[in-house]
Amino acid sequence: MEDRDMSGNITVITGCMFAGKTSRLLKLARKHREDGQNVLIFKPHIDIRSGDSLVKTHDDDGEEAIVLHDVRHIMTHSQPGMILALDEAQFFEPEALLTTVQAVVESGAKVVIAVLDRKWSGDFFPGVPALKDLADNLIQLHARCVCGGEADYSHRLSASTDDVEVGSGYVPMCETCFQTANSHQAS
Ligand SMILES: [Zn+2]
Repeated sequence: MEDRDMSGNITVITGCMFAGKTSRLLKLARKHREDGQNVLIFKPHIDIRSGDSLVKTHDDDGEEAIVLHDVRHIMTHSQPGMILALDEAQFFEPEALLTTVQAVVESGAKVVIAVLDRKWSGDFFPGVPALKDLADNLIQLHARCVCGGEADYSHRLSASTDDVEVGSGYVPMCETCFQTANSHQAS
């Protein structure tokens, strides 16, 4: 019998749009696979950017994923020693996400979550601060702002009032550029 680490833990990969969250998620998933671990990748039903069941990065790397209408369904795949990877987790119902992740970890599986932390308004998605608090490993990624600084915000280019539109239509910005851009838009 192989000696495997059966203790659960949570890795949260977060940051603004174009920060490379999905790339990091796939990189971790592949590394675990190469180590001989059982890895499943999930995505929420709402993310239609990449067609049916692909988790895809902006530079066109991709992996087949299980599409979830309800995040609680990952429980049926959870076994001790497994790695469950969730992409675009900001689209899951926050309460269900938090309780499910904790239940999965208690069952001895490991969870890797890629999540957009802020809405275009600059506010956090509900549940994201709590998710970061739960993380055993927190990977905070940054994109490059137009000014060259470190971007943590996703500035919305269109006039839609949805919390997040799926796909592009955003530019990553640092806090200073984000506030300047929004004060211009408001006036
Ligand atoms: Zn900037």
